[in-house]
Order: sequence, then C-alpha cells, then structure tokens
Amino acid sequence: MNAEAHQKVRASHLQRDAYLYVRQSTMRQVFENTESTKRQYALRERGVALGWPVERVHVIDSDQGQSGASAADRAGFQRLVAEVGMGKAGIVLGLEVSRLARNSTDWHRLLEICALTDTLILDEDGVYNPADFNDRLLLGLKGTMSEAELHVLRSRLRGGILSQARRGELRSPLPVGLVYDSHGQVILDPDQQVQESLRQLFRTFQRTGSARATVQSFRAARLLFPRRVRTGPHRGELCWGPLGHWRVLQVLHNPRYAGAFFFGRLRTRQRPDGKITYEKRPREQWLSLLPDTHPGYISWPQYEENQKRLLDSAQSHGQDRRKSPPREGPALLQGLALCGVCGTRMTVRYHTRRGEVSPDYVCQRQGIETGSPICQAIYGAGIDAAMGALLLESMTPVALEVALQVQQELQSRLDEADRLRHQQVERARYEAELARRRYLQVDPDHRLVADTLEADWNEKLRALTDAQEQYEKQRAADAAVLGDEQRARILALATDFPRLWRDPKTPQRERKRMLRLMLEDVTLIKAEQITLHVRFKGGASQSLTLPIPPRAWQLRQTSAQVVAEIDRLLDHHTTGEIATLLNRRGLVSGEGKRFNVSMVQRISRDHGLKSRPQRLRDAGLLTRQEIAERLGIALQTVKHWRAHGLLRAHAYNDKGECLYEHPGDTPPLKKQGSKLSKRRRFPEVPSNRTEEVQCET
Ligand SMILES: [Zn+2]
Repeated sequence: MNAEAHQKVRASHLQRDAYLYVRQSTMRQVFENTESTKRQYALRERGVALGWPVERVHVIDSDQGQSGASAADRAGFQRLVAEVGMGKAGIVLGLEVSRLARNSTDWHRLLEICALTDTLILDEDGVYNPADFNDRLLLGLKGTMSEAELHVLRSRLRGGILSQARRGELRSPLPVGLVYDSHGQVILDPDQQVQESLRQLFRTFQRTGSARATVQSFRAARLLFPRRVRTGPHRGELCWGPLGHWRVLQVLHNPRYAGAFFFGRLRTRQRPDGKITYEKRPREQWLSLLPDTHPGYISWPQYEENQKRLLDSAQSHGQDRRKSPPREGPALLQGLALCGVCGTRMTVRYHTRRGEVSPDYVCQRQGIETGSPICQAIYGAGIDAAMGALLLESMTPVALEVALQVQQELQSRLDEADRLRHQQVERARYEAELARRRYLQVDPDHRLVADTLEADWNEKLRALTDAQEQYEKQRAADAAVLGDEQRARILALATDFPRLWRDPKTPQRERKRMLRLMLEDVTLIKAEQITLHVRFKGGASQSLTLPIPPRAWQLRQTSAQVVAEIDRLLDHHTTGEIATLLNRRGLVSGEGKRFNVSMVQRISRDHGLKSRPQRLRDAGLLTRQEIAERLGIALQTVKHWRAHGLLRAHAYNDKGECLYEHPGDTPPLKKQGSKLSKRRRFPEVPSNRTEEVQCET
C-alpha cells in the first residue's frame, strides 16, 4: 500500500463502512475459478490495512453465477449502488473494479454516485477518488476498455461461429431423431422406434393437414413421442411422453428434419429489464440455410409443402378462412364458398333456428375492413342440402373410389400404429433384460448395489407388463374399431355412397372431407334466386339455382288454413273455445306452438277477421241494456229470465259476457206470481266449452 493511497483515505471515509463486491459470471466460474474468488476476498485485508475495522467491511457476494452484461438481474450490484447512494459507503472494494459492471452505463452511473457521495474505489491497482477529475478519467477509461475487450472477445467468438455456420459445419444441438456419428456427421437416430415415431408424425400431418389432428391421432392411438433431455444430470437421455401440439409445430418447422442445416433463425434482443427475448427472423434473413446437408426424414419440397399448409391453417384462424382444412361444425362449404359479387372467400357464421344450428355463408371481410355493410349473407341450410343432393346424383363412381380409399387408409393407419406400439413393448422388454443382466453381474455380497439393481429390475419388469397390457388392450380396441361387422358396413358403404353420406353416424367433418376431395370451390350469388357455380376438381363445373329461403318471420307466419278455420269458428265460438278446438285437432301456430286465447286474438286481429261481438251484433243480437229497455224490465231481471230459459243469449268472450237474441214477436212478459221454472221457452243447454254454449251468468 503506497502513501498516495493513504492520502486519499480521510477520516470522513473511515467513519463510513467499506463494501467488498465479489462476483463470478457463471456458476462454473464459481466452482472452478477459486483462485479469482480468493483474490477477491483478499481485498478485504487491504481494506483493513487502509484503516477499516474488519467487522465494518461488508461483503456483497449475492451475484455469483450471474453474468455481468446487465445490472438488471443482479440484486447485489443494485444493493451496492443503493448503499453508495445513501452515503453509507466510504469505499467500494472490488477486483478489477472496472468489471464491477460490464455494462458501461451501469459503471458510469456507479462512478457518478461515488463522486457525489465522496466514496472511494479500490482495486488491486490502487485507490481512486471518483470526485477527483484525473481518477475519474482513469476509471472511465478502464470501464470503456473492459467493455471493448468484451466486445472483441465476443465478435471473435461469433466470427468463428458464423464462418463455421456458413459452411454448415457448426456443431449445434440436434433435435430428437438426429444424432452425430463418431465422425461428427449428422445421421438418423439408429433407434428404430425413434425413427418410426418421427415418420409417423410426418405421415399423420400429411394425411390430416393439421397439427392438432396429428396430436389427436397420436393420443387416440396412445402413441408416445421421444424427447431428448437437454440439461441436468440426465442430459442426453431419451424420454417418452405424450405428444403435444407445440412439439408437432416444432418438428414441422425444423428444417433439420428435411436434411437442411440452418443457423440464425432467431434474433436475440435484450429488453430494458435485462431479460432476453427471441424473435423469429423471416427465412430470407437467416444467416445460413443449406438444404440437403445431411439425411433427413422428409424431402426439402415436402418441408416447404408442410410450411405452406401450416401457414394456410394459421391464416384460416385469422381474417379469412381461406382454404381451411375441414373443421367441426355443420357448414359443408366452410372454406370452399366464394362470393360471386366481389370474389373474396365467404366465412361461415352459425345461428340457431328452431333449436338447430344452421350455417350462414357471409361475405363480410370487406365490410369489416371498411366499415361498410356486408356484401352478401346467404342462409346456408338449403345450399348444403342442394350440394349434398348434387354429389349424390353425379358423384357415384368417384364416391366409390373415395370410400374405398378411406377404408384402405383406416386399415393402414391402424397397422402403423400397431407396429409402433409393438416397438414400445420391445423397448420395455429390452430394458427389463438389461436390468436383469446388470443385476446378475453384480457381486451378491455387495448388498447396497445389488438391492438397488434388483429394485430397478423389478421396476423395469413392471413397466414391461404395463406396456404389454396397454398393447393388448389397444389392439383389442382397434380390432373392435374394424370388426367384421364394421368392415362389412364400410364395404357396403363404399359401394353405397349415398348411404355413407346420409348416415347420421357419419361425422360432418368426414362429409366435408369427402366434399373437398371432389370440389375445388363454390361461388354463391344471391339475387332473385341463389345461384351456385360449382367447380369440381379436374375442371368440370355445374351451376344450380335455388329459391331464396323464406325469411324468419315468414316461417313464423300462421298458415292460411288455420286463419280460415279461426274465421269460420268465430261465428259460433269465443276465442278461448277456438284455441281449445284447434289444439284438439292438432293444429299448431307458425312457431309450432299450441294455441291460447291471446294467440287466437292476435291472429284474428292481424288478419283483419271480424270480431265475435261484431258478428253477433251484425246478426241482430241485443245488449242487456237494449233488451231490458225493449221489454221494460230491470237489468237484473234480464239475467234472471235468461237463467230460467225465458231469453236466449250467446257469449261473445271468455268472461261470460253475452249478447241476447231478439225475443221475437211474442216476448215474455212480467207475470206476478207464476213460477219462472214453469215458463221456460228454451231448452237448457248443458255447459260444454267446446260446443256453442249459452251464456253462463
Ligand atoms: Zn362479396
């Protein structure tokens, strides 16, 4: 320690504490570079030599194993800055202080704060006072040099990597299914089960055209997919697990499976919070892409084709369902309908009508983008029915072929899956055998090892039994899928396309697939009629016209027959009685409902039918008031007389209000003392709501 160093340390510094900052960038350095760690801790002695009591030298070593490129993740460095900023630190100790913060911004910030709070800095070369201009200049230079050194190191490293990558010789981690041989050449994994699983994945995708369907197919057949462990103690080992959607995408997007070397597909970018994000570059910006560098599972054109299909599939989720693979949902022409007015693809919208989901074909893309009304919307149920009929009448030979193909494909698919599952059993058997041999080889006196190996053997045997059971179960299930009965049914269906088409058990998705095998697209135009221009695969075309289906309110209209019936019945019945009569005859409203009073009232009002009171008045019937005046009797007497059959009345509503028949030329007269029951002129009519009834009150 020189005198100059001691001169810089003043009492004001010694009153505050000393902070020793220890760090190693990687965990590996923490373990292996113990020399450097020792040197860092030795600085504490120098702090003590400068006059700080040992108990006041605080060690900050929480950042060990963190890279120095950014301060964001390093809690220790943050704490150091905070302590300095609060003026608690008299001196900061660190090995090659300029490396305290590799990132120059962090470094300058620390220097600034040290200058403001009059904090010294010490490294192996000496003591600096950042408040002093010359010292600050020196420290700043050291920081810049350190940054430059890092940059040079990195670019040299990267330059080497890049030139190797351009030649396609860079040894990079390989995806599962590909391995390096002893000469460093990429070859297919010699494990047949791994190979076969990857082939199965590519085959399934080729068949279904969708990553999701590929996953479903694997899961339905209970097939596992291999994965290689990348890190940790089991690094490099092979594991088997269920196939996931992202993994299918990963495999399909990886050019290495097509035998191509690539590099620089991702761009790394540092976010303000210090985390790294990855961004996919478009293919033309990749640093290197060399097709046919090594053997692969698919050809390069096949890879390109897969990318295109994935893109199509992704687009069909977005603004336009163009060329989408058949999905669930009843719309037959989903992804095939074109707008005959503007030429864009029509989307499908579903709505529920009378409890059934029916599709509408809608051209709304332009409308959505420009905020204008939609181009055209066509009710789809009629169109789908017409398309089905068209196929049934014109497609029989093709249909036969399709159905046969489907059947063949089903069979071969099951065979493939069976072979793969059998390999799973074989693997389990091999592993059990291996465990047995290991157990037999060990010295039986070596109890600990023997016990472990025995347990391992037992476990492997259990796994083998499980695999075997699983295999048998699935095999039985597959056999059930294509049992004799079913096989006969499929064969029958193959020769009978209409039945296959109409069979309610045939999923709509399969119908759509069949349609797709035959049709290129269908152009829809709605004018006076709906016109369908159907283009078949192979260039043939056909046009159909359909009437525009009735609108919803038209469908809800009451039939003319019911209206006429109500009109007829109103002459003799109240609305309540009419409802009962109509229901008894099994008639229903336009909405398919049973009638009630208010419905009959609404229908007769809407159709301008003459009301029942009006009809009775037109027939010359009198109100109670009128007949009372005409006969010179009290209102109450009218009721009384009607009840005893002296007068006849007809109900005009369901509350029992009525109008009275004209009493005629010889009206009943008041006769004191003679019993009303003896004077009855009209027979008593039994109360019957459905026949014409007399007024009851
Ligand atoms: Zn349009």
